[in-house]
Amino acid sequence: MTQQSIPFIEIQDPQIAKAIRGEELREAEGLELIPSENYVSRAVLEANGSVFTNKYSEGYPHRRYYGGQTYTDIVEEIAIERACKLFGCKYANVQPLSGAPANVATYFALCKPGDTILGMDLSHGGHLTHGHPVTHLAKIFNFIRYKMKSPETGEIDYDALRETALKEKPKVILAGFSAYSRELDYAKFVAIAKEVGAITVADMAHIAGLIAGKVVKNPFDYGFDVITTTTHKTLRGPRGGMILTRESEEIAKAIDKSIFPGLQGGPHMHIIAAKAVAFGEALKPEFQEYTKQILKNAKAMEKIFQAHNIRMIGGGTDNHLILADVFGSLGVTGKEAQTVLDEVGITLNMNSIADDVRPPMDPSGIRFGTPAITTRGFKESECTKVAELMIEAMKNRENEMVKRRIHEEIRELCAIFPIPEGFVKA
Ligand SMILES: *Cc1c(COP(=O)(O)O)cnc(C)c1O
Repeated sequence: MTQQSIPFIEIQDPQIAKAIRGEELREAEGLELIPSENYVSRAVLEANGSVFTNKYSEGYPHRRYYGGQTYTDIVEEIAIERACKLFGCKYANVQPLSGAPANVATYFALCKPGDTILGMDLSHGGHLTHGHPVTHLAKIFNFIRYKMKSPETGEIDYDALRETALKEKPKVILAGFSAYSRELDYAKFVAIAKEVGAITVADMAHIAGLIAGKVVKNPFDYGFDVITTTTHKTLRGPRGGMILTRESEEIAKAIDKSIFPGLQGGPHMHIIAAKAVAFGEALKPEFQEYTKQILKNAKAMEKIFQAHNIRMIGGGTDNHLILADVFGSLGVTGKEAQTVLDEVGITLNMNSIADDVRPPMDPSGIRFGTPAITTRGFKESECTKVAELMIEAMKNRENEMVKRRIHEEIRELCAIFPIPEGFVKA
């Protein structure tokens, strides 16, 4: 990607201009394997930096509290229409500022304080906002966590989930994850929810793009009531959130009220404009090709980790990410792995694994994924190479010469595959 044009910042605020240039270079020269990150198109970036940042538009299209809404209504309506088309649902709220507030608003829309919500355990792949004890949410709702039956296959313990549901009568059953690499059996979630009268919510923050590209299952096809998501991960839009409702007008209305005035004030219209642009990109056939390649690339990396007998939680991957037990397999802790990979120009994150014997600040695992490198144009052969270099670096973490050579190879790969400026033909 060529440098973004920022002439006014350069004259007025050299310190910030320098930081922007630094970040541009960091993104250009390093390999981004954090599975929740991606590169947006120039078109998304332009909308993100547009004059819509000036406008207050509390309320919803044609029901606003301030005047001057001719153009905000246009972009919000287009964003909603495209979101519904992408995910096959009747209602969308595109105002959540990010994934976490989307979840908070959803819980408050569907539950009263003290109500029970079943969610995936954080150490088994769930997210903080699924009721981790450190969150404010955990003080308000009664979160009960379920787990995998076996970290080797990744299968959820649906029998235990059903038993818990029958006993605890949850208001909401939550499916979704941040560090889980298998498909969920959505039909089972829906069947259990029906038995106990619970509402089903899928938090698809990580895999929204894969659902939009139709390369993984869509929870709505199995009868889920609500999907919450971010827009900046595999969906490749601006940093933000969204809540989708399959068909219940009652639920959709409760969610709208919960976002505004329940939780948020004025929506960020520049971000909503950027969401609309990103959804437009995701509706193009090129995006389906992109998501297919994300999966092929993850499989290529899985194959190399398998060949080196490195244990993967869930036994491998059905999506864009891999969670590898590098401590158990190589004797390298997650933090050591993250550090050495950083040194050779590969960014990923250490991650706890199911029933981890190590502490969260230096866990047994690493988590990595292919959305960003696939945006760069990597195919299976480059991903195979990257996986081999990762393993070589972890095994030789004290060998400066090997590390220098690997870093050089990574830099070369990045030079051959610059971050693209756009993905769809105009
Ligand atoms: C990333 C993520 C979120 C939170 O999104 P933010 O935009 O960081 O607030 C919520 N749920 C899941 C499953 C996620 O992966």
